[in-house]
Amino acid sequence: MNGDKLTKTVKTIRIDVDQCNGCRACEVICSAVHAAPKYSSNNPGRSRIRVITEPMTDVYVPVYAGEYTVAECAGRDKYTIDGKQYDECAFCRASCPSRNIFKEPDSGLPLKCDMCEGEDEPMCVKWCLADALIYEEREEEVEEQEEQEELEIGLEAMADKFGMQKILDAVSRMSVKD
Ligand code: SF4
Ligand code: SF4
Repeated sequence: MNGDKLTKTVKTIRIDVDQCNGCRACEVICSAVHAAPKYSSNNPGRSRIRVITEPMTDVYVPVYAGEYTVAECAGRDKYTIDGKQYDECAFCRASCPSRNIFKEPDSGLPLKCDMCEGEDEPMCVKWCLADALIYEEREEEVEEQEEQEELEIGLEAMADKFGMQKILDAVSRMSVKD
């Protein structure tokens, strides 16, 4: 690792909470576009965006999945919105051991928003007719090392789930096939 600078396009979704009406179309399309085969099913439990709801006060907060974390954090702040108190975890983007959100229901593997790689645009943004989700891009200089961290995070999650020896055995079988 030599620490060289790379220019990276950072893709984000800006969320306008005031516009969200809680329709959950974003959850439906995200899970459908990531189904295998694509569009063969929809299940919000597999969605990489979830809408935190408080229907009595019309509060809807879309949260899209961020990084996997091995351990839960110490943050236990409370948020009060329109008189209703929310746990800090409600708005967290992490796939974390302390809750079931942003985990593949069958395997338990972490789900992370991939900005709908391979599609023309993020599908949740396209399907949000209320304009609560706004896609944005910016250029940022990053260390080359940062690029490698995503792979390491994915491998760490797999190792936690299946054990390092199973991962090594699988890689070794794949190498033999090549
Ligand atoms: S599609 Fe838009 S309006 Fe509907 S729940 Fe998702 S973010 Fe909210
Ligand atoms: S950008 Fe794509 S992967 Fe990310 S939350 Fe939206 S639909 Fe899901």
